[in-house]
Amino acid sequence: MKKSNLGNLVFILLVVLTVVVWIVFPPIDDGRETFMRTYAGEALGSLVVVLMSFSLFLSTRPKWAEPYFGGLDKMYMTHRRTSTSAFLLLFVHLLTVPITTVNLRIGNYMAMIAFLGIVAIVLPTLAPRIPFLNRLSGPTYESWKKLHRYIGLFFILGYLHALNVNGLSAFIAINWVQIFFIIGVISYLYVEVFGGFFRKYVPYTVEAINHPNNSVTEVVLRAKKGPIKKQRAGQFLFARFLGDKEMNESHPFTISSAPHEDVLRVTVKACGDFTRHLFANLKAGTDAVIEGAYGMFDYKTGGQNQIWIAGGIGITPFLSFIRDLETGLNHDVTFYYTVRHREEAVFVEEIEAAAKKYERFKAHIRYSSSDGSLTVEEIIKNAGGDPTRHDIYMCGPLPMIQAFERKFVEAGLPVENIHFEEFNFK
Ligand SMILES: Cc1cc2nc3c(=O)[nH]c(=O)nc-3n(C[C@H](O)[C@H](O)[C@H](O)COP(=O)(O)OP(=O)(O)OC[C@H]3O[C@@H](n4cnc5c(N)ncnc54)[C@H](O)[C@@H]3O)c2cc1C
Repeated sequence: MKKSNLGNLVFILLVVLTVVVWIVFPPIDDGRETFMRTYAGEALGSLVVVLMSFSLFLSTRPKWAEPYFGGLDKMYMTHRRTSTSAFLLLFVHLLTVPITTVNLRIGNYMAMIAFLGIVAIVLPTLAPRIPFLNRLSGPTYESWKKLHRYIGLFFILGYLHALNVNGLSAFIAINWVQIFFIIGVISYLYVEVFGGFFRKYVPYTVEAINHPNNSVTEVVLRAKKGPIKKQRAGQFLFARFLGDKEMNESHPFTISSAPHEDVLRVTVKACGDFTRHLFANLKAGTDAVIEGAYGMFDYKTGGQNQIWIAGGIGITPFLSFIRDLETGLNHDVTFYYTVRHREEAVFVEEIEAAAKKYERFKAHIRYSSSDGSLTVEEIIKNAGGDPTRHDIYMCGPLPMIQAFERKFVEAGLPVENIHFEEFNFK
């Protein structure tokens, strides 16, 4: 069992345990006609509370938990899964519990508000993954994030509704779920109220701005006091820039410099409001606030033979890896960097210079518009026909990563040898 799977395993065990608690310590049968439906509905409602509390806990970004999930980006993937499962179970709960329109209690009104609130917040997140709904243009990330801040209030309301309806008496099961409710509430308050007192926000200044092409900005940052601690090549940070309302939003970016450099560099592709504004307006001398470093995308933990694959702006963790080679290379690395056109590629000279300098580092740069798309078959052929003893590191567009992962697994590569970084938290 890999350490990075432990977090998800614990979550699954706790969900199973919740079901077991409801089965082993059932509620008292008070003789009502709808007892079984109410029993099943309450158990399902409990699962919603447990899953939502996991999601709220993960949104606190607990750095200490990163090794148990494989990094903060993977924790956000788990967050997405637990939230989606909670959302779906909420509908099943609603269909299971007997609903009456007579003698409504305050808890019934609370349930309605909580349900509508959760649907309004979660549906826009899921919309891009639902056929038909994905054609609608959803909210921007920032407005989605603002809306998301209220999820905890609906979580609390949802739990309180259970205490204010004509529910069953299930002392042990209800107390078990209460533990998760408390974890969820503390996590929510941590994120929205008091977390700022504990998080380490490190002051930096923008020392220089470079534009390696007409859509990418390299931001060079120098620490005002001490630098961020314990950084590894390939990790990412959260950065915001002061003095400009549009840029005073915390966004994640991979650190493209190496840990031994005395500055931090991030390389940012202009693709939305924040990044376009940064491309056009960020100036040297601007103050920045940095939080991090996060992430477990680390070539040093991989085996002897490695294949690195970067697509587009997914080059950034590999820039950090390549710049880190100065401290020694103990692996045989074949690196593929694929972009559509020559103009999109950044730091090509530096990559080629590294390939000349380090015997064990080979680089292939692919312009797909003229050379055709990079394929897994070609990568395997270059690896001597057998990829099974390699570790693969990938960063780039999600469809590319998913397609490559599938093909590598089909070619016999163990799934635990495939490492990737996802540039998406939503
Ligand atoms: C771990 C990680 C590392 C990344 N490293 C890099 C990098 O090195 N270089 C680079 O160019 N990009 C990187 N990104 C992507 C970068 O964070 C987004 O492109 C940027 O935040 C987009 O913001 P926007 O307002 O310009 O675009 P929008 O159009 O508003 O957002 C585009 C998408 O970016 C994501 N996003 C937007 N705002 C945030 C936010 N505040 N927090 C989290 N996600 C957000 C959302 O998925 C959103 O759908 C990384 C993302 C992650 C998660």
